[in-house]
Amino acid sequence: MRPFSYIVAGSVQEAVAALHEHGRDARVLAGGTDLLVEWRHPGARVPRVVVDISRIESLRDISLEGRDVLLGPLTTHAELIRSGVIRSEAAFLASAASTIGSPQIRNRGTLGGNIMNGAACADTVPPLIALGARVTLSSVDGERDCHLSGFYNKPYTTVANPNELLTQVRFPALPRGTKSAFTKLGRRNALSISRLSVAAVVAVDETGVITDARIVPGAAQTVWKRAMEAEKILIGNPPSVALFAEAGRVVSGVLIRETGRRWSTEYKEPVIAALVRRTLEKCFAVND
Ligand SMILES: Cc1cc2nc3c(=O)[nH]c(=O)nc-3n(C[C@H](O)[C@H](O)[C@H](O)COP(=O)(O)OP(=O)(O)OC[C@H]3O[C@@H](n4cnc5c(N)ncnc54)[C@H](O)[C@@H]3O)c2cc1C
Repeated sequence: MRPFSYIVAGSVQEAVAALHEHGRDARVLAGGTDLLVEWRHPGARVPRVVVDISRIESLRDISLEGRDVLLGPLTTHAELIRSGVIRSEAAFLASAASTIGSPQIRNRGTLGGNIMNGAACADTVPPLIALGARVTLSSVDGERDCHLSGFYNKPYTTVANPNELLTQVRFPALPRGTKSAFTKLGRRNALSISRLSVAAVVAVDETGVITDARIVPGAAQTVWKRAMEAEKILIGNPPSVALFAEAGRVVSGVLIRETGRRWSTEYKEPVIAALVRRTLEKCFAVND
């Protein structure tokens, strides 16, 4: 690996100052679980300057501000899983974090790294998009907020500039009684990246009718999008296996229409439909 300068930032101000000074020559290092793998590849572009933010304690917090959940980007996947706030306000985000890598990876890998790396298989991103999450980017010029739904141009490419540091993730807590679930399909049960995943949120009113539905497939498209056509089918109807199966077929149809038919379509078409149906069933544990 090519040698590089190593800056340990003690604060957000030090980190953004280093990013400002070194621009495209610098890379932020959080847990290093994506970066170190990347740099070991032959021909990898190793930066001249590494800005290690892992000791900035203010970036590690999980808190509630009114009904908004605030997450520091250094929150590890293990911390997400253990957090009482996440388990009560956005349980499927904890479920998604629990599917990431191994215990070692979950202890080291961070939410911010997962978001900023931007791999199509990043498991925390589908639930965060379903939650309507926003991210704060900080630089020497100040802060700006972006919706996570518009944050990615394509896999591994975000709208963040090289001099910007992700300093907060924020989303509205799910309304009380709202159900959520995450399902991941990998090549094996443990230590497996997503081949496909689905995050879903469903709310039902006192008459038993669905009033809110959000479905976000993961690892299925170049950028994450809510499956609006399927969401519309759910709203206004009581939950049932038949309805969930129909929503699954619609999601699958839309994805195949967008990506075009190819060699993997025969597999993906029924699998996406089944994954959506199962995720919606998981929300309700419907057995009719
Ligand atoms: C064996 C193994 C298994 C894995 N399994 C999974 C899996 O199942 N699911 C999954 O989603 N991922 C998986 N990963 C990928 C990885 O662990 C996660 O993406 C993790 O969350 C990355 O976080 P990190 O802190 O290690 O990021 P780093 O490697 O430190 O950084 C990743 C990227 O984000 C940037 N970055 C980090 N923090 C900030 C910030 N605050 N501001 C600006 N830029 C920032 C870095 O510059 C870099 O470009 C796996 C990795 C390994 C090695």
